[in-house]
Amino acid sequence: MKDVSAENWMQVRPEGLYCKPADCFIDPHQPVPRAIVTHGHADHARAGHGTVFATPETIAIMRTRYADDAVTGAVPLTYGQRHALGEGVELWLAPAGHILGSAQAVLEFDGQRVVISGDYKRHADPTCVPFEVVPCDVFVTEATFALPVFSHPPIEHEMAKLMRSMTSLPDRTHLVGVYALGKCQRVMAALREAGYAHPFFIHGALTRLTELYESLGYDFGPWQEVSKIDRADRDQFRGKIVLCPPSALADRWSRGLPDPLPAMASGWMQIRARARQRRAEMALIVSDHADWADLLRTARETGAGDVWITHGRVEALQHALSQQGIRAKALDLVGRDEEPE
Ligand SMILES: [Zn+2]
Repeated sequence: MKDVSAENWMQVRPEGLYCKPADCFIDPHQPVPRAIVTHGHADHARAGHGTVFATPETIAIMRTRYADDAVTGAVPLTYGQRHALGEGVELWLAPAGHILGSAQAVLEFDGQRVVISGDYKRHADPTCVPFEVVPCDVFVTEATFALPVFSHPPIEHEMAKLMRSMTSLPDRTHLVGVYALGKCQRVMAALREAGYAHPFFIHGALTRLTELYESLGYDFGPWQEVSKIDRADRDQFRGKIVLCPPSALADRWSRGLPDPLPAMASGWMQIRARARQRRAEMALIVSDHADWADLLRTARETGAGDVWITHGRVEALQHALSQQGIRAKALDLVGRDEEPE
């Protein structure tokens, strides 16, 4: 492998990671003329860019979350489709397995390949295309769960816990906190696989993105919006699942439900203090990020001699990779959420 000098053409600027010859940012956190957007979560996909290079699904998500005119100059790229960014830089997108439409940005220039993973996971998820290892010279990775303590269980395990609770506590409304983009739909799909056949009751804040998934061919079975059900009929929630955004778990909205049992689905639920913070009686460890073992395994599998770490538990990952003979450095990007799930 040739000596990597990707620093010459990939730089950290106040707006975010920047590809200099292509004059293009990756997941910039403020509006720029040209942006590659890895996926639709708010800390990666900001509104107001000039040209946006992203998968068609990510563009659809951005238009749903912001407004149709928030993404004016969209250049949709399906996985594997090559696009010349100019000055000899080629871009293509590879699946990241994080949420619907999520992608790794693959940049090729001067015989070198840099892969920016965005957020990613290796666990199975029927609501998105699985992660693909792309051999590269420089692998740019997140480090959200980069501590040896983080080991994410299979989602089936966590859904079985929820199903058992509904059987043993049939009088309680099982209220599950989920983020609106990705987590909500993944949990719905997993519960169907676990045999939950009843219509889901869902908070109004979760409907638009769920409908977007459905318009793209995903099927979660029947669901009803909670606000459309008469207060007098709300005893039907007992022993059933109500999905809501995490913020609604402990607010006035949840007090309108009979005997709520608040549960929270997040990778952070492995930490008891986080579950208490969310007032969750039941912690469901459901993560859309790679855990410690998968972060290390993935960096190794890319064969990259250099790993650049964007955000999260940067030092722990840097140290572990260095011990395996991989050059690792922190990028010190600003503007990433501390709790990006
Ligand atoms: Zn994300």
